[in-house]
Amino acid sequence: MHTYHNALGVAAALRPAQPVTLVRPHAAQRAARFFVEKFPGLSMYAVKANPSPELLKTLWDAGITHYDVASIAEVRLVRETLPQATLCFMHPVKSPEAIAEAYRVHGVRTFSLDTACELEKIVAATEGATDLTLCVRLRVSSAHSKLSLASKFGASVDEAPALLLAARQVADALGVCFHVGSQAMSPQAYAEAMSMVRAAIVQAGVTVDVVDVGGGFPSVYPGMEPTAMAAYFEVIHRAYESLPISYSAELWCEPGRALCAEYASVLARVEKRKGDVLYINDGAYGSLFDAAHIDWRYPVRLIRDDESTTKPMDFSFYGPTCDDLDYMAGPFALPADIAEGDYVEIGMLGAYGSAMRTQFNGFGQGETVIVTDEPMATTFGVIAAQPAKVTRLTK
Ligand SMILES: *Cc1c(COP(=O)(O)O)cnc(C)c1O
Repeated sequence: MHTYHNALGVAAALRPAQPVTLVRPHAAQRAARFFVEKFPGLSMYAVKANPSPELLKTLWDAGITHYDVASIAEVRLVRETLPQATLCFMHPVKSPEAIAEAYRVHGVRTFSLDTACELEKIVAATEGATDLTLCVRLRVSSAHSKLSLASKFGASVDEAPALLLAARQVADALGVCFHVGSQAMSPQAYAEAMSMVRAAIVQAGVTVDVVDVGGGFPSVYPGMEPTAMAAYFEVIHRAYESLPISYSAELWCEPGRALCAEYASVLARVEKRKGDVLYINDGAYGSLFDAAHIDWRYPVRLIRDDESTTKPMDFSFYGPTCDDLDYMAGPFALPADIAEGDYVEIGMLGAYGSAMRTQFNGFGQGETVIVTDEPMATTFGVIAAQPAKVTRLTK
């Protein structure tokens, strides 16, 4: 992969006609080091946020040894890329074939579940294995998060005790896990979820070996500037310390977004301007799925040799495909004189950005290069006592 200093360097050298993914390994490395050093337990990377093998290797080199995988394809990919990694299959609804292959071929020993049927399925597919770590997924509120994960999975507090007891009978180690929803804007989300963990454990009266607080750790986007990460870790640590669990129990987390949001941005080109609408060459079927479908906002900047002296104004984007759905409302603030042929860097697309790219309508084949400058924002620049302010690296 080629290395450039920044987006302007890429635009000048390549004049790319396709969107180019700009990756910043140093930013992913910084995020990984932060979790490895500061989270009061084990951090495993939720692979679905960005499964790129280069990123997986970067995280591994920075000390991330455990990977949360959700499909057999993710299991195979991580096993192939990182032969030594520990894989945890944390999707509560799996096919028997996926469980069997994960267990027998790829050495997966940790599985999550949220029903008695899934427990039976795991036992059957592993032929009664006695070396399993089974994590019961609790349903918790997504009220503090920008993206809900509350409806699809999880046993209710009423259902959990029986499931914990049943899992305890067959598990070598028993865990409780949950997910507060993605981009949790307050550490309170974890405190509330932990009180449900407490209720379930007390009710079941079982010994729990693992408490896994899932993902949801936020990154920074326009209009979404969360509390410092250290405050999240502190709330989790405090709640964990007060749980009725054994001294030898382990605390885990599964960050996806927080480990990779800063890893990538996209260099797109303006193909047409109509008033305050820019037709760009990346969109809803490319790396801007969330911008189109859930109105997620990303930071943007004009990439042009001479900086524009005009004031910024608000734009919305159309992507390259032929349908109206390929629309990103924004608003995206860019200099008022932006024109056809200009390049735009769209930042903070490392999580759920390139991972969502499709080939629909013949678009989506741009290349990937490394850049060495800073991401457009970071939650990890200030490793200080909270409440630290988010560092903004651009004006
Ligand atoms: C998606 C997912 C994650 C990662 O969530 P983020 O919000 O990206 O941190 C972690 N665990 C599970 C089970 C998930 O489904």
